[in-house]
Amino acid sequence: MTGGRSKRGAKARKKTGQVGVGNPLLAEWTTPFAMPPFDRIEIAHFVPAFDKAFAINRREIAAIARNPEVPTFANTIEALERAGDQLQRISAVFFNLAGTDTNEEIQAIERALAPRFARHSMRVYQDATLFARVDALHAKRGRLRLSEEQRRVLERYHRAFVKSGAGLEPRAKKRMAAIAARLSVLATRFSQNLLADEQAFVLVLEGEADLAGLPRSVRAAAARTAAERGHPGKHAITLARSSIEPFLQFSARRDLREKAFTAWIMRGANGGKTDNRKIVAEVLALRAERARLLGFKTAAHAALEFSMAKTPAAVRRLLMEVWGPARARAGEEREELQKAVQAEGGNFELAAWDWRYYAEKVRKARFDVDDGEIKPYLQLDNVIAAAFDVAGRLFGVTFSERKDLPVYHPEVRAFEVKRDGAHVGLFLGDYFARSSKHSGAWMSGWRKQEKLRGATTPIVVNVMNFAKGAAGEPTLLSLDDARTLFHEFGHALHGLLSNVTYPSVSGTSVERDFVELPSQLYEHWLLRPEVLGRFARHYKTGKPVPPALMRRLEAARNFNQGFKTVEYLAAAIVDLELHVLGETRGLDVDAFEAKTLAGIGMPREIVLRHRIPHFQHIMGGYASGYYSYLWSEVMDADAFSAFEQAGNVFDAKLARRLHDHIYSAGGSHDAADAYVAFRGRLPDTRALLEKRGLV
Ligand SMILES: [Zn+2]
Repeated sequence: MTGGRSKRGAKARKKTGQVGVGNPLLAEWTTPFAMPPFDRIEIAHFVPAFDKAFAINRREIAAIARNPEVPTFANTIEALERAGDQLQRISAVFFNLAGTDTNEEIQAIERALAPRFARHSMRVYQDATLFARVDALHAKRGRLRLSEEQRRVLERYHRAFVKSGAGLEPRAKKRMAAIAARLSVLATRFSQNLLADEQAFVLVLEGEADLAGLPRSVRAAAARTAAERGHPGKHAITLARSSIEPFLQFSARRDLREKAFTAWIMRGANGGKTDNRKIVAEVLALRAERARLLGFKTAAHAALEFSMAKTPAAVRRLLMEVWGPARARAGEEREELQKAVQAEGGNFELAAWDWRYYAEKVRKARFDVDDGEIKPYLQLDNVIAAAFDVAGRLFGVTFSERKDLPVYHPEVRAFEVKRDGAHVGLFLGDYFARSSKHSGAWMSGWRKQEKLRGATTPIVVNVMNFAKGAAGEPTLLSLDDARTLFHEFGHALHGLLSNVTYPSVSGTSVERDFVELPSQLYEHWLLRPEVLGRFARHYKTGKPVPPALMRRLEAARNFNQGFKTVEYLAAAIVDLELHVLGETRGLDVDAFEAKTLAGIGMPREIVLRHRIPHFQHIMGGYASGYYSYLWSEVMDADAFSAFEQAGNVFDAKLARRLHDHIYSAGGSHDAADAYVAFRGRLPDTRALLEKRGLV
């Protein structure tokens, strides 16, 4: 996941402290690389800093709008690109903190900020004088002698104004502003409710009977979690994916699996103050209304305007093309798991909380490999080193840890990125789960690469939720965890290697269904013998992964792919169908979910990867865009096959093209053109079906 997810966190946050004079958020940052002076920032600094930054930005915008000169690209679009620097800097510090290390004080500021941001943005993007300038430029864009990058920047601004209602009559404009304000409040509430539900649940395991089936590494992580959650000496499971998934995979206690699984899939739907269902219904109604005001048929049509897919019909076509084979495969898998239940003497029908457990057993029996077996070889530090190494071999960049830089939490690590001895940017890694952190994994940052205001180097972060190893033990990752690390690191590289002029097309600011290409493509290198063979070393013996285990892992790669594809695809279909609804007033999201799933023949034993009440993606930038992962996967499967066909996964020529057209190009070119420039043609779905073993 990437992009504008607002997130929380910080260090040295004394509650009192003199603000105003010496507010580090408002001062010039004289830290190395002008990174945020995390060690001096206190929570009390945020509100006064935001007050000032909003005011400065309002003045900047007014000056651009009232410029007496004829509008030009430089005095309007470039001026807009330069404006809001202060506001952007402070927002980045605040929202990264809010995502990674929040508390009640930060949450309260976050709730108050949401409508302020919405109002501010509307004031800018509904400003009639300013829109007149942008619109005039847009109307004669063909005659302005713009570069492709400049033309795309202009298009983006024009679209942002139009989508905010700048071209509408006054009453509709007012309604658009009200909708934006309300949506911002609802999105914040949704996310905070979800965190509250996750913090509220902990499954404490008492004694050996409760631990039945759990391998050593899962026990170690659970012991650590228990200590953190105030149950020292015991074991505990939380609703963080890295805690609950291994539990569901290995726990022999069917009753406890059911209990944990039920809590997991009920996040956001538990009634009471933290229930998200009414929030979702209201959000959908507002989005549908906003789309109609703008002349779009539905919210999905509006959202897909700037994408490769372009229309809901094109998205549906791809999803359904894969759905059939995926569902058929899941059916075969189900039969096999049911047999495993019977073989064990179980006299019950496979349920959703049994799937992962029996899949693990069948996998072990069939391929002689289990997830726990690879874990001792996947030390976090080595997987990080592997991700760095691949970047070095493909793109010539190096990473060196800097312990002298201020970070926002003691667990955060900072690395300087260089190429040919020159500074490229900073990469921060925040790897461990903690209860003050939102769940999931994402890439974000504090500063984007750009050249408009002089060569500006990026500062990006990867945030993960790995279960930390027990005291004195290294943190060991599952294969999925390692894949997630590579995925988010692919996004990080997209930000770090960016080489564009304008901030609004920098790094990951690309079409939404293109943004997962650099991340998903990067995952392919993890499992290569050239990578895993070198970096996966047993944490006790230092021995490399036995080649036989590698071969067995490779053979098992597509195992359970029916399940994985179905749980993802169903969520993508639900997201799309939610956003093509015409009438959404009083929508019963549970009934809608059930009806949609019945309509596509969802297997009873599989639950959506994200059920609607905790589907964080659809609250933010991935609304009607969850399909993007699959859309990008069509490309990543096809793109990696280019390296395989070259017979060298580090082929220098291909790596160069990949760098120039994809990783460094940001949104400066049309996504389809960028792909063709790299690959020579557009991909088809075939490579994806092969990759997932569905044909
Ligand atoms: Zn991603």
